Amino acid sequence: MGILTGEEGDPVALENAVARGPVILVCEHASRLLPQALGTLGLPEEALESHIAWDPGALAVSRLMAESLDATLIFQRFSRLVYDCNRPPESPAAIPEKSEVFTVPGNAGLDQAARDARTEAVYLPFREKLAALVADRIAQGRAPVIVTMHSFTPVYFGQPRAVEIGILHDADARLADAMLAAAGGGGPYDVRRNAPYGPEDGVTHTLKEHGLSNGLANVMIEVRNDLIKDEAGQRVVADYLAGLLEKSLPAVK
Ligand SMILES: [Zn+2]
Repeated sequence: MGILTGEEGDPVALENAVARGPVILVCEHASRLLPQALGTLGLPEEALESHIAWDPGALAVSRLMAESLDATLIFQRFSRLVYDCNRPPESPAAIPEKSEVFTVPGNAGLDQAARDARTEAVYLPFREKLAALVADRIAQGRAPVIVTMHSFTPVYFGQPRAVEIGILHDADARLADAMLAAAGGGGPYDVRRNAPYGPEDGVTHTLKEHGLSNGLANVMIEVRNDLIKDEAGQRVVADYLAGLLEKSLPAVK
């Protein structure tokens, strides 16, 4: 059974493809759209609108950053509940049966064929398009910098989170170190290293797959989603993060 119909289009979107800046912005959790074939996955509307389906605000902030950094933006057009593009196919979290307080009935007990269908429809096109973009830049002698953009919920399992912006990295901390140094201690936001998640949580898949494997500087940015719930907040955070990146890129050239 096909997951996506022809009218649902390419699951991967590319914006500002011919950008002149070095940064490639990646937004794996941009959208809460579900393919028609999967209905609601058995979830109530409340869950389908919540952070378990997508990273609210992350795409809007990424678009503003793409403009100010003259960066290419690539994002997944379907919800991470269909397939979480920041997880490899062998990870159970790629097609989550549970997400925070919600169980996902439409993801329960899938057989290998059903898992493969999700992977082929949603993940592989995303991985291939991003890999091709990176390879093309390298071939042009313009080694890119990979920046993945996410948002997180201010309250998780009932616990409030104080961190406002997380700068995450895996084995290559060059860009994260430079950004944390540029953020300093007295800036407008509570900025922390590898918070509220870190590599031990399996969140650095895209960084490893496309950044580390190619020796490219890379970082993952997590923004608390209450800061970017409207256009004004998105603009302030996008300007702040673009500024941090501009100050930090010379350190990884
Ligand atoms: Zn995310």
